[in-house]
Amino acid sequence: MPSQAPGTTRCEVLVMAEHKERQLVAQALDTLAEAIERGESEQLKAYLGTLARFHQYSLSNVFLIAVQRPNATRVAGFRTWQKLGRYVKKGEKGIHILAPIVWRRKREEAREESRGDGEEDEVVRFRSVCVFDVAQTEGRPLAEFAQARGEPGKHTSRLMQFAAEQGIEVEFSDALVSAHGLSSGGKILVRKGLPAAEEFSVLAHELAHELLHRGEEEQPSSRTVRETEAEAVAFVVCQAIGLEAVNAAADYIRLYQGSKETLLESLQRIRQAAVEIIGAIMGKVEARGKASDTEWQAAGAGEHQAAYAA
Ligand SMILES: [Zn+2]
Repeated sequence: MPSQAPGTTRCEVLVMAEHKERQLVAQALDTLAEAIERGESEQLKAYLGTLARFHQYSLSNVFLIAVQRPNATRVAGFRTWQKLGRYVKKGEKGIHILAPIVWRRKREEAREESRGDGEEDEVVRFRSVCVFDVAQTEGRPLAEFAQARGEPGKHTSRLMQFAAEQGIEVEFSDALVSAHGLSSGGKILVRKGLPAAEEFSVLAHELAHELLHRGEEEQPSSRTVRETEAEAVAFVVCQAIGLEAVNAAADYIRLYQGSKETLLESLQRIRQAAVEIIGAIMGKVEARGKASDTEWQAAGAGEHQAAYAA
């Protein structure tokens, strides 16, 4: 945030910019709260339906998959892919994993075989089965989680610069499989190759975690609260630069059981982090004086204010 210099024209410009920032943040949060209240979107329902079809693999199978196909993202058996309207492409080699076969024997039978202690009534064996990564299949597109849309342009590099100024290292990685981003205190990983708007949104989300949840002070213990805060900050920042991200943010927050109430309880923290990031990436007010207004307009802030004023 730029500081005020009393009695100058530049001061007036700064106050106006700050006022706009606050207005923008308040309006963005209203929009988000409304979207969360509308309930599960069709896209989220479809996504959750698809997700439910994918198996949670054991650690040893996750390892087996990683060794045989390091870039695998979504893995399922032949029949599961068929149910999802997709087919394994000709000539694709399966990934071998171990499937447990568990069957229960009658108590009496078990008692006889286990010399009378009566405990052993479950038998587990393993057999090798084949699964395939989504890239080895073709057919109906999978239901996807809603993503941010639009063109962040130069704002991504400004966001990176802001992270660097905070002493946070940002690394693009193709080792992230189940998440788009990760914040670990002083370091952020972002999945390589995301669409530009999604990449910006993920970076803003992880930066919010860094600002709000990796410091010295007491952190919210609930994951619902932490994820709601980070995603709400990311949404406000996306909105400020003109990206369309309301559905993605509302769905994400709902996925973590966040609600309008969660949002309201964290309002102050969300606002602070959002204003800090927006100030850093859109500001440059002090250096440019009145140019700041043009900057806000150019980034679509004016448009959004008009759109959500009602
Ligand atoms: Zn998060």
